[in-house]
Amino acid sequence: MNQVSFDYPRQDAQGQTCTAHAWAKVPAPLTAPERQTLTERAAELLKAHNAVLVAHYYVDGPLQDLALATGGIVSDSLEMARFGRDHAAQTLVVAGVRFMGETAKILSPEKRVLMPDLDATCSLDLGCPADDFAAFCDAHPDRQVVVYANTSAAVKARADWMVTSSCALEIVADLHAKGQKILWAPDRHLGRYIQEQTGADMLMWNGACIVHDEFKGLELELLREQHPNAQILVHPESPKSVVDMAHVVGSTSALIKAVVEGTAQEYIVATDNGILHRMRQLAPHKTLIEAPTAGNSATCKSCAHCPWMAMNGLLNLVQCLERGAPEIHVDEPTRVKAQRCINRMLDFTAARKAQASGMTPGIGAA
Ligand code: SF4
Repeated sequence: MNQVSFDYPRQDAQGQTCTAHAWAKVPAPLTAPERQTLTERAAELLKAHNAVLVAHYYVDGPLQDLALATGGIVSDSLEMARFGRDHAAQTLVVAGVRFMGETAKILSPEKRVLMPDLDATCSLDLGCPADDFAAFCDAHPDRQVVVYANTSAAVKARADWMVTSSCALEIVADLHAKGQKILWAPDRHLGRYIQEQTGADMLMWNGACIVHDEFKGLELELLREQHPNAQILVHPESPKSVVDMAHVVGSTSALIKAVVEGTAQEYIVATDNGILHRMRQLAPHKTLIEAPTAGNSATCKSCAHCPWMAMNGLLNLVQCLERGAPEIHVDEPTRVKAQRCINRMLDFTAARKAQASGMTPGIGAA
C-alpha cells in the first residue's frame, strides 16, 4: 500500500487546515428567534438571486430544512452533483465541503457556485495532494485511476473515473469484469471494502475520513450486546472491524433508506451524526443510536461529526448570498480534464438506472 503520512494538527505550515482551525470556525448556536430571522432572510435572498441551496445530509438541520423548503435538495454527493447540474438556477449555493462546490462548478461552469465558507474541506482531500497523487499514477500507468468524490479538482483531473459511495462498488465491479486493474484513492477503508466485495486488483492510497475512522469495533460490540435487536448501519469509510458487524453497509442515502424501510425498531448508525436529522424526520418512530467513537482506545477528533461540515451555518449562508462570495473557481484546463471522470460516472449510473427501468440511457435521465 502506498503510504502517505499526514497529521491533522500539522496539515500545512500555517495550521490552516487542522481540525482545531475548523472547530474554531464552527458558528455559535443560534437562539430560536435568530434562527427564524436568518432562515427567512436566506429564503428571500435565494429567491432574489435565482439561487438554489444544495445541501449534504451532514450539515446542520436548519440548513437541510431550508434547502427542502426553498426547492433545493438535501442528499449525498452523487445526487448533489446531478441536481446542481440539472437545475435551472443560475447560482448554486453548496452547503457542504469544498470538493462538493468544485464538483458543482466543474459540471456547471456557466453557473455561479457559492459556499458559506471555502475553508470547509475534508481530510480525504487534504490527505491526497495532487502532485504526490500524480507521481503515484505515473508509477502505475497500467491501472485505471478511480478516485472518490472527496478529492480536489486537480486530483480528479488526473483520474479516469470518479465514484461516490453510492456507485463505487458497481463501477469497480464493472471494471474488474472487463479485466482492468485499479489504482484507488484516497479512502483506504472504502477501497478495502470494495476490494473485498469485488475481488478487483486494487492498489490503494492511504487516506481516511476523520469521522468514520474513529468508529470503534470493540465498543460497537459492547453496544450491540446492550441492543441485541438493533440493526447496525455502517458507512463503508469506517474501519473493517465496524463494517464486519454491519447489517447494512452503504452510502448516506442507502443508510437512510434502510431506516425508513427497515422493520426493526432500533438502529445503530455509524456515520456522521448530521444524518440523524433527516432519519428522524423520515422515520420519527424509530430509535436511532449513534455508533461509539469513544472508549478505551479513543482519541476522538470529530466525535462523529465532521468539523468542516459543521462550518456551514445560517449566518454565513446569508452573508455569502448578500456578498456574492465566497465563490468557487476552477481553472478551465483543470475543469475540462476533471469533468471527464465525473461525466463517466454520471453516464454509468444513468445507464444502469435506465437499464433497471427499461428506459433508453442518457445523461439527462438521472
Ligand atoms: S465526514 Fe469525512 S469524508 Fe465527509 S467531508 Fe468530513 S472528513 Fe470528509
